[in-house]
Amino acid sequence: MASRNEVKNRVCEAIDRRRDQICRMGDHIMVNPELGFKEFETAKLVAQTMDEFGIPCETELAITGVKGVLKGKKSGPTVAIIGELDSLLVSDHPQANSSTGAAHACGHNAQIAGLMGAMMGIVDTKAVDELAGTVVFFAVPAEEYVEVEYRMELVKSGKLSFLGGKPELIKLGHFDDIDMAIMIHTHSDLEMPKTAVSASSNGFVAKMIRFIGKAAHAGGAPHKGINALSAAQIALNAIQAQRETFQDQDAIRVHPVITKGGDLVNVIPAEVCMETYVRGRTAEAIMDANAKVDRALRAGALAMGAKVEIQTLPGYMPLKNNEKLSHLFKVNSQDLFGVEEFCEVGHRTGSTDMGDLSHVMPALHPYMSGASGPGHSVDWHISDKEMGYIGPAKALANMVVDLLHGDAAEARNILDGYVPEMSKEAFLRFQSDLYKSEVFDGNR
Ligand SMILES: [Zn+2]
Ligand SMILES: [Zn+2]
Repeated sequence: MASRNEVKNRVCEAIDRRRDQICRMGDHIMVNPELGFKEFETAKLVAQTMDEFGIPCETELAITGVKGVLKGKKSGPTVAIIGELDSLLVSDHPQANSSTGAAHACGHNAQIAGLMGAMMGIVDTKAVDELAGTVVFFAVPAEEYVEVEYRMELVKSGKLSFLGGKPELIKLGHFDDIDMAIMIHTHSDLEMPKTAVSASSNGFVAKMIRFIGKAAHAGGAPHKGINALSAAQIALNAIQAQRETFQDQDAIRVHPVITKGGDLVNVIPAEVCMETYVRGRTAEAIMDANAKVDRALRAGALAMGAKVEIQTLPGYMPLKNNEKLSHLFKVNSQDLFGVEEFCEVGHRTGSTDMGDLSHVMPALHPYMSGASGPGHSVDWHISDKEMGYIGPAKALANMVVDLLHGDAAEARNILDGYVPEMSKEAFLRFQSDLYKSEVFDGNR
């Protein structure tokens, strides 16, 4: 039997031999971006590649997910490595799709290249002969929480239950046979070393808000109207006033935008629309801030005698990276890229639906360089293919080998005594219960 390091070296050499193919794939997806739950062509490419490498896969999971399964020689735990299929909407990005405006401004194309590269290395070297357990190669839809109205239509027509890919896949049972999940996200932060892992990151709920007033002539008879914009302004001020009650350790972020401010300049605004996320480090902190935001919204309506419709939607759960998996990533990163090229960052205030997975199983969502330009911006691109595409392939494959080599002692050690934050049932109940619609009439 080959040692763990021998298997890892062989896999990395195989990935190097596939370098051109892996980079081509990453570049191809970069210029063929597709938004979440619409990643049909990207999913097809993934399924075809799995097929080429003899990996049986299921397709159309949560609309576009592709799940390939490779069984080890002996039985043991199941480790999933994940790549996200979806792009963003940045229509002025130089590589945006000219008709949809979709663009890969978050590096998910690199995730798929890394996922497929890891698969190639493992298959090419028959590494599974040395592994106990199962490797799942999982291309998942819709990490970016965008096109909310489109997705809500899918919810209303019964095609989805949640607005993100991973909670939907959990709900549908596609993670039921998986024991732990790891992925790697590209970063473009010049101040960070090549690889980094956070302890945790924020979760959030999303809110769609509509103030309803009464139109009237803005010059001739404003006293006959009810100004929905004034109601929204008072609500925004009331939200601002709540900020001193948010505690530092909860890392609350409330960032509303007005998406409709009125109709015509000479008409008292009768309809004003807002959206916001309420983010925080824990579910409790999010719910506390969310209740304060609701109070502030009602206060705006009450002051003006307007109505407010408040729609709350489940977002993503806070992420908690599994400590043992984080350590495994650290060891492999330092091995591949040098001791100084790894850092631990504390809590991050963005959000990912990997947080949902981290509530029900050991999960890992670290970062690797390779990109330049601010995330989600027109300037984001993969500037270093070696780190963007090949590095994650090697790190993912090496972690799989570490976890499942021999009798899968590493994976068993991670599962030993592990208690999930929530059972799947409790998770689904929590997220489903977040759906809430309220109409508050300030004139009653
Ligand atoms: Zn993103
Ligand atoms: Zn992303």
